[in-house]
Amino acid sequence: EVAQAHLDRIEAVDSRVHAFLHVDRAGALAAAARVDNGEVDGPLAGVPVAVKDVIVTKGVPTTAASKILEGWRPPYNATIVERLQAAGTVMLGKTNMDEFAMGSSTEYSAYGPTNNPWDLGRIPGGSGGGSAAAIAAYEAPLAIGTDTGGSIRQPGAVTGTVGAKPTYGGTSRYGLIAFSSSLDTPGPCARNVEDAALLHSVIAGHDVRDSTSIPQPVPDVVGAARRGAGGDLSGVKLGLVKEFAGDGSEPGVSAAFRESLEALVKLGAEVVEVSCPHFEYALPAYYLIAPSECSSNLARFDGVRYGLRVGDDGNRSLEEVMSLTRDAGFGPEVKRRIILGTYALSSGYYDAYYGQAQKVRTLITRDFQQAFERVDVLVSPTTPFVAFPFGSRTSDPYQMYLADLFTIPTNLYGGPAISVPCGLSEGLPVGFQIMAPTMADDRMYRVAAALE
Ligand code: GLN
Repeated sequence: EVAQAHLDRIEAVDSRVHAFLHVDRAGALAAAARVDNGEVDGPLAGVPVAVKDVIVTKGVPTTAASKILEGWRPPYNATIVERLQAAGTVMLGKTNMDEFAMGSSTEYSAYGPTNNPWDLGRIPGGSGGGSAAAIAAYEAPLAIGTDTGGSIRQPGAVTGTVGAKPTYGGTSRYGLIAFSSSLDTPGPCARNVEDAALLHSVIAGHDVRDSTSIPQPVPDVVGAARRGAGGDLSGVKLGLVKEFAGDGSEPGVSAAFRESLEALVKLGAEVVEVSCPHFEYALPAYYLIAPSECSSNLARFDGVRYGLRVGDDGNRSLEEVMSLTRDAGFGPEVKRRIILGTYALSSGYYDAYYGQAQKVRTLITRDFQQAFERVDVLVSPTTPFVAFPFGSRTSDPYQMYLADLFTIPTNLYGGPAISVPCGLSEGLPVGFQIMAPTMADDRMYRVAAALE
């Protein structure tokens, strides 16, 4: 009944929201039946979940919102999909996103944008706009996203939902179509903090198939979320990053953030200003590292191994077919990243660009480590602005990149961070971000639950 109700809801509203690229009605009903028969049990038995289309699902179309993978049905499941199945969840389908997770608005999907359920003329954030919109529109209670520079948290913020990026290596990347391997982190999207923690606990944990997976027990995120709810924060130190202050956040965003900060102080928390002097270089460092890794990872889409192949008429060389396929299969933002990345990695420029960005990454990591000697978590708005109208930031890539100003430092460091709804600005949701030290995901959930 629960699965059917959500499928009905998708049927009723998704023509307007377009959160889904593929709805797996038959698969969902079959999975629900297995729960009903008692064949499958688990902590989330029968709970529907939507999965971002950058995660491979056996036999179910997976495109990463790119034309180059149109019609591809993966022969295997990602580790987190296996874990979702073992927990008894019912996968409803695959959600829309920016192509290969590059973007902040879902406008770069090759299959058309997702509309923000709060205002259908505005973006739902990105890259995981489909997962966040599905939750905001009550099409799914839970969803999986991936966060490379903010793609779980920023969509969460602008759709009034909860999105968490676990510690890098805390959730397996096996079966996640790689964008930037040193940053990509799958994580939960939900309607409240406890649900996010439950989903987190089900998908997290060591995986031998991912060499960067952390071989340590998963922090007790569910217990922390339950302890934090309505709770006491005395003794908890919240770090306010000095360098984020003159950042150009919209006034309504700053006001909602400040109000929530005061609420946390009323619960006993103490606010301490900390300096993270290298955060101002996070965006430029990210836009060298992420495109560099993407240019290498996307080399596998060559028209031979998967999906689209263009111009293979028997008269053309392999190189011509590859070039025609890649030209037709990749959208403009993906091409921009590949070109930027190959340039940054090319001989003679490597030290000046990629090498330099890696050094900046180390300095940002030190900023975090020094800050966490003084405070328990860092806090900020999740994103400087509320959901913007379609088309308003597509003509200037830099304007789009600014959406992740506050989320990107955490990815370069590797720690966990969560976005929790914290009120409205001009009738649109604002997100409050909590960043914690690596493997202190439980601490992040505790503060998040108190805020809620
Ligand atoms: N918006 C950022 C980008 O375009 C982050 C994307 C992400 O986290 N996948 O790269």
